[in-house]
Amino acid sequence: MITPSLDACGAFVSYLETLFALSMNDLHTMINDFHGDMRTGLSGHEGSLKMLPSFVDKPTGREKGAFITLDLGGTHFRILAVQLDGKGGTTVLGTRQTAVPRKVMQGRGEALFDFMAEGMDAFLTKRGFERTRTYDLAFTFSFPVEPTGVSAGMLIKWTKGFTATGVEGKDVVILLKEALRRKGIDCIRVTALANDTVGTLMARSYRDPSCDLGVILGTGTNACYREKCAHIARLEGAPPEGFMIVNMEWGNFDKVRRTCYDRDLDAASVNPGAMPLEKMVSGMYLGEIARRVLVDAVQRDVLFLNAAGALKRFKRKGSLTTPEMSLIEGDDTSDLAGVHDFLKQKGVSGSSIEDRRLLKRLCGWVSGRGAGLAAAATAAVVTWMDPELKHRHTVAVDGSLFEKYTRFSAKMRAVLTDLYGKKADNIAWVHSRDGSGRGAAIIAAVAATASPQGPGHSSKANFP
Ligand code: ADP
Ligand code: MG
Repeated sequence: MITPSLDACGAFVSYLETLFALSMNDLHTMINDFHGDMRTGLSGHEGSLKMLPSFVDKPTGREKGAFITLDLGGTHFRILAVQLDGKGGTTVLGTRQTAVPRKVMQGRGEALFDFMAEGMDAFLTKRGFERTRTYDLAFTFSFPVEPTGVSAGMLIKWTKGFTATGVEGKDVVILLKEALRRKGIDCIRVTALANDTVGTLMARSYRDPSCDLGVILGTGTNACYREKCAHIARLEGAPPEGFMIVNMEWGNFDKVRRTCYDRDLDAASVNPGAMPLEKMVSGMYLGEIARRVLVDAVQRDVLFLNAAGALKRFKRKGSLTTPEMSLIEGDDTSDLAGVHDFLKQKGVSGSSIEDRRLLKRLCGWVSGRGAGLAAAATAAVVTWMDPELKHRHTVAVDGSLFEKYTRFSAKMRAVLTDLYGKKADNIAWVHSRDGSGRGAAIIAAVAATASPQGPGHSSKANFP
């Protein structure tokens, strides 16, 4: 039995703890820096926050009608028919979900859009839609888009394994309209190009007027909020009255203090240098940061000194996931039996209780920092809108990280209380699902109300 040198071990453990800790000063500095980058982005200058206009304001809750949404954002392609009752209620009347075959994701752009048009044709037929009427459609396209209007936007660059040719640099709404025309579908009017973050805010605020922030905490992270049009320089030429939802693309915020583990993770990623905040906060990365710390601790003989197989099992990139971290942190048994079982399943035998305690603390440091950063970013946006925190702000959050990693969301709340004391009660996080479906339908409804032609036929009518 080898025993670790207590001094060396203790020193490394307190080094790590300090490395990942966020002081009050760190949080306040981040909030100030965030405000600075928001200002830069809004003024139309190059900065870490893009601050993209969405061309829609919050719904009033009185929007009514029937809308179709089409959602392309990953491995699945989804069509929904959504009815808005004009009283804050939404009903999904029909849905069709299909996997996007790899050869479609990576073939010709035209074929990808034809694939969606075929899906739409089948959906309309199966659900008995009258082809002589007009239906408003919101297209949720969850890739980086440069928006140019409520129903127009150019794909900047494919992500998530898509490479379909001839799409980058083009307006994806025009490509969709052309494909619908090729398929002979003329009962669809594409009235909105939506995004999951804006959809999340819209889905909640349709029935909750205090909601003015939408946040994604899932594979990635992003946020949007309500801004005065007069503050958005990109809207030059447009009337300055009113408000608009701004998609911040906050995952790219870069005034963050990175550790050696963050720098190594970034260098090994597919997009080095990009999305610094996302790489410290979101589900795709938390487990990988913790794994890198774990491997370092094992190599320094601080962790798993007498447990066989640890280095081998955790050496590979991706071999510790965020859901596993959440499981480790969630084990509250006195002997950490759950962590023991988890390690055994991984092929690590003979862990000591000290090993398991340290592993749990290690996960806590990494997730605690992520939650602290997410909370500070949220605090920055809320105080941008309401510096004295005088009003209630509901933050609609979508994503499995928020929904399932209970320690993570609890820590976010705790950080807001540390920052603002009792006033933090004015910030309420709520889980809001389906921004890319129901939320997108609400975007289409708001766009239809605001459009000079007025609402389309469908928004006055019910579906068959
Ligand atoms: P997406 O962001 O792609 O729409 P989700 O919102 O479901 O999808 O988020 C998926 C991410 O959430 C994954 O990267 C995963 O790491 C994280 N996640 C899923 N389940 C859990 C869990 N139980 N605990 C912590 N994180 C989780
Ligand atoms: Mg999602």
